[in-house]
Amino acid sequence: MIYLNGNFMPIEEARIPVLDRGFIFGDGVYEVIPVYSRKPFRLIEHLQRLQHSLDGIRLQNPHSDDEWRSLLEQVVAENENDDQSLYLHVTRGVAKRDHAFPKGVAPTVFIMSNPLLTPPRELLATGAAAITANDNRWLRCDIKAISLLPNVLLRQMAIDAGAMETVLLREGFMTEGAASNIFVVRNDILLAPPKNHLMLPGITYDVVLELADAYQIPYEVREISEYEVRTAQEILLTSSTKEIMPITRLDGKPVGDGKPGAMFEQLYRLYQDYKLTVMRG
Ligand code: PLP
Repeated sequence: MIYLNGNFMPIEEARIPVLDRGFIFGDGVYEVIPVYSRKPFRLIEHLQRLQHSLDGIRLQNPHSDDEWRSLLEQVVAENENDDQSLYLHVTRGVAKRDHAFPKGVAPTVFIMSNPLLTPPRELLATGAAAITANDNRWLRCDIKAISLLPNVLLRQMAIDAGAMETVLLREGFMTEGAASNIFVVRNDILLAPPKNHLMLPGITYDVVLELADAYQIPYEVREISEYEVRTAQEILLTSSTKEIMPITRLDGKPVGDGKPGAMFEQLYRLYQDYKLTVMRG
């Protein structure tokens, strides 16, 4: 069952008018929230980021946090899997096609759930391949906008090259992945790019840095040069659905010794333990 504008229904029955500004302009924002054992993970943080994205596109939040929580819980309850990936989407609604904001139009609100497919153990054991590409997106990558054409094209470049993700470089520095945040390890120090308008402030990114703080893992938040990425000891990818993954090949060359490294192993373990604690709590 999905939620659309006040109603729950099977996805096959859900209909959006063709003049929805999400369809016409990509005029909307979204969130992806992982659910473990039927509990949304880091819900408050996801709702805060949703508010940031809505503020960024000057769209009023259609719901209070309590309302969102209740709608999301209902979608989770309607779906059979204990672990789910919630997709929440708000557009500026349906109006005659005109770039200017329409007046008096209700936003479109859509929530669906898919099974949460975290990376299998075998993939974590070998690590994934990535390629690099020029970050040709706009300058508000901190907004989780539904207009994802550059991200789609950049991710497909990776798939066409037999890789999983594209690591993005802008003016000699690494920003993030096409649909993930990227960390680099050098000299046993975890390096994270600073949160700014050039990347999405990842919820998983924050969890990783909190874990680094809590367990005295040395880390630095600073700009990471292309050279530092290409000569990294380890590269790690994070996202809500992929959690933490090692990137062991970059542009066809091994990263470090080409195997998942000690930093990945430690953070992966800490992340799994943290999840269990949150779920029990
Ligand atoms: N950066 C981009 C462009 C993304 O699309 C995503 C998530 O899909 C992330 C980073 C990771 O963010 P989060 O950890 O909140 O899923």
